Amino acid sequence: MAKDFPTQARVVVIGGGIVGCSVAYHLTKLGWKEVVLLERKVLTCGTTWAAAGLVGQLRATPALTRLAQYGTKLYAALEEETGQATGYTANGSILVARTKARKREYDRGRAMARSFGIEMEEISFQEAKKLWPLIHTDDLTATYYMPKDGTTNPVDTAQALAKGARQNGARVLEGVKVTGVELKNGTVTGVETDQGRIACEYVVNCGGMWARELGLKSGLSIPLFAAEHMHIVTKPIEGVSKGMPSLRDMDGYVYFREEVGGLMMGGFEPRAKPWGMRGIPEEFQFTELNEDWDQFSIFMDNAIQRCPALATAEVRHLTSVPESFTPDTAYILGQAPGLRNYFVAAGMNSVGIASAGGAGKAVAEWIDQGHPTEDLWDVDIRRFFPWQVNARYLHDRITEAVGNLYAHHWPFKQPVTSRGVRRSPFHDRLAGMGACFGVVAGWERANWFAPPGMEASYGYSWGRQNWFDYSAAEHMAVREGVGVYDLTSMAVFLLQGPDSEQVLQRICANDVAVPKGQVVYTQLLNQRGGIEADLTVTRLEEDLFFIVTAGANETRDFDWIRSHIPAGARAWLTNLSSGYSMLGVMGPRSRELLAKLTPADLSNQAFPYTTARVIDLAYARPLALRMSYVGELGWELYIPTEFSLSVFEALFEAGKELDLKPVGLHALDSLRLEKGYKHWGSDIGPDHDPFQAGLGFAVKLDKVDFIGREALLAKQEEGLKRKLVLFSLEDPEPLLYHDEPIFRNGELVSANTHGAYGHLLGRSLGMGYLTNPEGIDEGWILSGRYEIDVEGRMVPARVHLKPPHDPEGKRLRS
Ligand SMILES: Cc1cc2nc3c(=O)[nH]c(=O)nc-3n(C[C@H](O)[C@H](O)[C@H](O)COP(=O)(O)OP(=O)(O)OC[C@H]3O[C@@H](n4cnc5c(N)ncnc54)[C@H](O)[C@@H]3O)c2cc1C
Repeated sequence: MAKDFPTQARVVVIGGGIVGCSVAYHLTKLGWKEVVLLERKVLTCGTTWAAAGLVGQLRATPALTRLAQYGTKLYAALEEETGQATGYTANGSILVARTKARKREYDRGRAMARSFGIEMEEISFQEAKKLWPLIHTDDLTATYYMPKDGTTNPVDTAQALAKGARQNGARVLEGVKVTGVELKNGTVTGVETDQGRIACEYVVNCGGMWARELGLKSGLSIPLFAAEHMHIVTKPIEGVSKGMPSLRDMDGYVYFREEVGGLMMGGFEPRAKPWGMRGIPEEFQFTELNEDWDQFSIFMDNAIQRCPALATAEVRHLTSVPESFTPDTAYILGQAPGLRNYFVAAGMNSVGIASAGGAGKAVAEWIDQGHPTEDLWDVDIRRFFPWQVNARYLHDRITEAVGNLYAHHWPFKQPVTSRGVRRSPFHDRLAGMGACFGVVAGWERANWFAPPGMEASYGYSWGRQNWFDYSAAEHMAVREGVGVYDLTSMAVFLLQGPDSEQVLQRICANDVAVPKGQVVYTQLLNQRGGIEADLTVTRLEEDLFFIVTAGANETRDFDWIRSHIPAGARAWLTNLSSGYSMLGVMGPRSRELLAKLTPADLSNQAFPYTTARVIDLAYARPLALRMSYVGELGWELYIPTEFSLSVFEALFEAGKELDLKPVGLHALDSLRLEKGYKHWGSDIGPDHDPFQAGLGFAVKLDKVDFIGREALLAKQEEGLKRKLVLFSLEDPEPLLYHDEPIFRNGELVSANTHGAYGHLLGRSLGMGYLTNPEGIDEGWILSGRYEIDVEGRMVPARVHLKPPHDPEGKRLRS
């Protein structure tokens, strides 16, 4: 061990790529002392050195866009602060569309950009040629310009961050490899390195493509995998000039930027090559992989189409370097579920240079405050599952994940690789009924049903897709008759033990000290009153609670509840998700259908809304919850897995007389929106409190003290200033998806959190938060004139203070 090797630190940042440097920089900016960054070889030697350095700002979601925007400002300012140049230039970027559909995607993107304050304008082909003289435009449908995008020098930018961190007191050590993270009772206590041990309170795994292996040593799932990623640099080309904007032709998979008078050209191929399945060689540093011109040919062909001068240009070098990608092409941040003070910032999906500034800041704040400053669910490590670290799953998905970045981002687009991972017991039956499946959390879920003779596959478009009418029929079956949907993907937890009630009373905003058989809809709040989870808690016994949450939130919600059970409490949480399937039997005729199969009294008096009991049903005894996410009379049946098919068959046999319809999850979504029900992750989340979200009815301030109560009391005192409202478009034609800007009296005020078509209403629905610093009330909301920007067209919208369907909730209680 070297003489001055530290034996103690507050935080150890593992990895000296741009992300690790940014995390260390931002921690020291927040005043953290004893920050040590360890790099196994040399700073930037992993992937960072090889990057093209494109720094685009517009990302898939508002939060990620804000992080990228921050990065551009930071990189522009670092030289003045640290004395180390970053090479950042705000030379802008051009985006081209080859098809009408891609133009529609960009027109939606442009509207979104506007709501983030990012300049993005459509420009003429002549203007594009002025900015980028070598561009070929004959085959294009549109060109766009983003003047504030930039490029940076990745190595210099990482070095500037490292220098800034050092100047603020961090120690940056090269040639030190972390061999393991030390944990005691699930809490970080130190790291083992090839130079000795360092005791520490926190670690941040910024190990790039090494992060997965290092995580596995601590039993942690960090699902990422490397793929070969490449670009070429040419000798100088006439017509290429310094300061020229970068150019992206996503339909052709390629990007270009100026590099010493020539062009750097690379891209994101639809079928990528995973790399490093058998491990990463120990000596890897600034390592280039073998040139693969066959793999590169798709870029070359397309790049020549866009820039014919490339055909005769001399290629100086082909660089091929591995970069890590994740199953959903979004990076991974946050505290590892089940472990305390183990943070991750990795899996940058080839936007690591553009995102490192913001990601490093976000993680540093997360560590400092104990929570992110802004909700980062899209990149939160808790969106993943332990099984997703499976090597074959990752290998196969990564072939697709790379191309996703430039692929057409169709609404409802489903992955084609690594499919069929989690299937409900009903899967084959549903497939036989014409189900078209989509994936959430690895679960194959029936999204819609094709009629006989039609292939059950998506025909993507920005307008009404091929399933629109079938989903509408499923929607109406639930409104008018009876439908059954499979939601086996729901996560089921059991909390048991004599202290269970006490524990849940502290965690839940609603009162769960209820009689046996009562279902409670509740939010779990953070200390700031924000909504961390949205779920139901059913009391089965004095000391036994059945908790149901959305499948996508399984890891997160389990972790939240478990980590809030006080040490020593006699309450144990078990994940029983694999033990139950779930069928929703919904619609005004659901009682009639179930009555054919059960002797149980299903009358309103005997089995009221929000109650639960185990009933005989066919040959099985499922737990029936009288709840509904679609706003109709109905029951959710939680069926012990092996009884699933017998119940399913009995339901559909008995349902023949009632014209029972299988219902897909697209219909579930449109049904719930028509009823104004919220969805955690789009309409509500940690940055919204229940009052703003219209969920005040589920908050019991006068019960025992619970997490978030203080904050809610303060908010109550302050008065409501922000409110989630439902909109419908006056024009029945346009469709809403998400993030469309909302205008009030001509002024941009909000964005749509989620949209769907209200088939009963015959118009698109969406939701958005309205804010009035003076205080918000119905009068103020109704006094506004609203419009929503759909692909650049201002569509008048109506605001609904009550859900358009069954505003009094009579049908639920019928
Ligand atoms: C060809 C190419 C072009 C690209 N173009 C762009 C672009 O234009 N724009 C953009 O935004 N992004 C681009 N990228 C992606 C970008 O380079 C990456 O996303 C980014 O560099 C990832 O940074 P990182 O810090 O996560 O990983 P890395 O740079 O790989 O850093 C991880 C570091 O951790 C160290 N390490 C690992 N394990 C240990 C351990 N146990 N102990 C100590 N140290 C450890 C490694 O040695 C490594 O230095 C490109 C990538 C490639 C390959």
